[in-house]
Amino acid sequence: MIIILKAQASDADLAALVEEIRRRGYQSHISRGVERTIVGCVGAPEEDKDLLVDHFASFPQVENVVRVLKPYKIVNREFHPEPSCVRIGNVPVGGPGLAVMAGPCSVEDRDQILEVARAVKAAGATILRGGAFKPSTSPYSFQGLGEDGLKLLAEAREATGLPIITEVMDTRDVEQVARYADCLQVGTRNMTNFSLLKELGDLRTPVMLKRGMSSTVEEWLQAAEYIAARGNYQIILCERGIRTFEPQTRNTFDVSAIPTCKELSHLPVVADPSHATGRRSLVPAVAKAAVAAGADGLMIEVHACPERALKDGPQALTPAAFAAFMADLRPLAAACGKALAG
Ligand code: PEP
Ligand code: MN
Repeated sequence: MIIILKAQASDADLAALVEEIRRRGYQSHISRGVERTIVGCVGAPEEDKDLLVDHFASFPQVENVVRVLKPYKIVNREFHPEPSCVRIGNVPVGGPGLAVMAGPCSVEDRDQILEVARAVKAAGATILRGGAFKPSTSPYSFQGLGEDGLKLLAEAREATGLPIITEVMDTRDVEQVARYADCLQVGTRNMTNFSLLKELGDLRTPVMLKRGMSSTVEEWLQAAEYIAARGNYQIILCERGIRTFEPQTRNTFDVSAIPTCKELSHLPVVADPSHATGRRSLVPAVAKAAVAAGADGLMIEVHACPERALKDGPQALTPAAFAAFMADLRPLAAACGKALAG
């Protein structure tokens, strides 16, 4: 349930409420909005909820108590009516700007990552992406450079000033990846890896949660709730396409998931047209559709020499194509009320 405090409620009133929730053995989550502070109370058994609603409603500084019927509570828009903004390094995702994350599928070597980092920065990207731990459908394909890849990403951040986002696949690697990355990515194959989600919930580093390729929006939001339930509210959603019967594209980009998530949740939403389409010729159009649908950011794969990429070459834009795309995107982003950096 969510407990909405009166506008004049003090910090002492809030503390008393939080203490009462704790005393009863439940968890509290606090959302401080522009006008109102809302306290989420989770963990109460079903049979106690009606009495609890009446109990909290009797507090003098409580304006209203509402049962949240959806299975996701903290990431629910009811808990936090204004959109959330998550900062990756110093780059806001979910504010008035459009965040553009760009870089190769995988970190391959020093020259490759430094060259592409400089190129995407020059074209206006604000966050560098690159995989060091790669989820691969085949055990024989490239698995990533591991910690060496993380070190190269950190070097590229040093050289360009771009914060970095990279995937973590295994609970055993969380601590290491978090030491290097400004944002941890959960890939589509791990959206329902609940042990990993819980571990990430114990961090305060931002997490970008990609949609499972066969997951509904409600399952996706419940996966986000796993992270939020442990106190990490720095969560970004990423629509990257879902599996359908259509073989022309690698996945089918679900553009309606963007406004749907925004209606149901306060979390920022990023779109990944690269993995959604699998084809570089389709990436610009799908990226623009995502921005028009309200995306807060884009994640785009860029490689200086796609035909030599160790992974996902067919969907990678060259630096020149990426720069042309960014120039093309600028007026569209502005028309959608989302400024591009630079
Ligand atoms: C990636 O971003 O490189 C990646 C593997 O994405 P996904 O998990 O969406 O397939
Ligand atoms: Mn990839």
